Amino acid sequence: MRFLPVFLDLQSGPILLVGAGELVRAKLRLLLAAGARIRWYAIDGNRDTAGLDASEVARIEHAQGDPVTADLAGVIAILCAGAGDVGTAMSARAKAVGLPVNVMDDLAHSTFIFPAIVDRGDVVVAIGTGGSSPVVARRVRERIEAMLPARIGDLATFIGRWRKTMHGRIPEMPLRRRFWERVIDGPIGALVLAGRAGEADHALNDIADPSAFAGAQSAGAADGRVTLVGAGPGDPDLLTIKALRALQDADIIFYDELVSKEILDRARRDAARVPVGRRVGKPGIGQDAINKLLIDAAQSGQRAVRLKGGDPFIFGRGGEEVEVLREAGVAYSVIPGITAALGAAAESEVPLTFRHEALRITFLTAHRASDAETVDWSTLTDQQMTVGVYMGTTAAPTVRAGLLLAGRSPQTAVGVFARATRPDAQAVVGTLDQLPALVDRIDGGPAILVIGDVVAHSAPWRAAQLNQLVSQVMVAAE
Ligand code: SAH
Repeated sequence: MRFLPVFLDLQSGPILLVGAGELVRAKLRLLLAAGARIRWYAIDGNRDTAGLDASEVARIEHAQGDPVTADLAGVIAILCAGAGDVGTAMSARAKAVGLPVNVMDDLAHSTFIFPAIVDRGDVVVAIGTGGSSPVVARRVRERIEAMLPARIGDLATFIGRWRKTMHGRIPEMPLRRRFWERVIDGPIGALVLAGRAGEADHALNDIADPSAFAGAQSAGAADGRVTLVGAGPGDPDLLTIKALRALQDADIIFYDELVSKEILDRARRDAARVPVGRRVGKPGIGQDAINKLLIDAAQSGQRAVRLKGGDPFIFGRGGEEVEVLREAGVAYSVIPGITAALGAAAESEVPLTFRHEALRITFLTAHRASDAETVDWSTLTDQQMTVGVYMGTTAAPTVRAGLLLAGRSPQTAVGVFARATRPDAQAVVGTLDQLPALVDRIDGGPAILVIGDVVAHSAPWRAAQLNQLVSQVMVAAE
């Protein structure tokens, strides 16, 4: 490590900025946004401050004359555009008086460099690569951005506000540290991260004996909770940032068989993993048993994640589980996921709503033929309605019959999308009339049926038409 990250107090004096041009303007924006005062030697006289607030421009002091002989009293750092001799001269001058200096794009003449920054209020992360690769620094920053809760800065501010008070109430340093760790990791921290700092203040204030709170041996039952997490249709990159965070935070994960290994791989390494899926045709562990597992985990103080394919509230029994948790008095929250219909539609380019062709969407399930028989097909007559059928492959003949009975045209476009968003995704398209035969062409895995004229805009439909055209031309040529 050649460059040590330190944080410069911008309130303590002005920064001397020398030069003009796009790089200088970018630094100007950064420094002003951070609250800096700037003494600017524009040299070429171009003082373009477009895009800056008036209050920011007010913090710029326009300096005249030669910066190399400028008075440096009170200046806290020097920043200089790279080109020409000025950079070299400013660098020598700064070094002579011991001021930190950065000459843009010139490592040799710089004594400090700018990191990539993640800025969340009081929480600021600086990422450096010793000047060797800004692109790598940016990639690292993206990862950190995704990892940090949006309100992590609020959490720091919250603790900053209470620090003095708690210092008085818990004089022993190790105990105090444990106290704050437990606050951050527990429900009070969660309140702040959820934007409910007022409630967090009350909760912290209500802790009668902070030392006892800090000293409690293991995580108490009060910390236990269940998070219902939507895992999306399969592609791990379709997890939401919030879902990823819950997975990284979990003590134990109860997952469905629809959840892919690649998604489980993103969970905290030492989280316990418990499969609770029900495979079609095979008896699973049963909903009552799952409910009991969730409640037991939370009541023993664990952070349990209930990980479900797609979205928890779309044919995922999320509603039932939430009801049971509520009755048991277990703390819970729900993180949505991308449901299979949306994943398949995006992947195969089916615009689920489209101008005058599709104005409504219905998602329904037709698990067994008996389910399909209870569907009121007369509500699905609208030709401008896109219909997504979950768990509908077995009952495809009934779905077809029902929709035809409702008056849908046998020529309505349909798509069968299997293993959508996974590496082995498969799409088969055709008409409503052909639906059962299309389903037969699927090679296993979960599949969703999408029925509606918009399927004719999809990528697989366009590919099929092209194929047809090609074979017609070939036949004609023979
Ligand atoms: N909660 C889930 C649905 C669970 S029901 C969600 O929101 O997506 C299970 C059904 O979802 C499957 O029978 C299938 O119809 C559909 N499904 C789930 N994952 C799928 C995928 N990757 N591709 C196609 N269909 C999928």
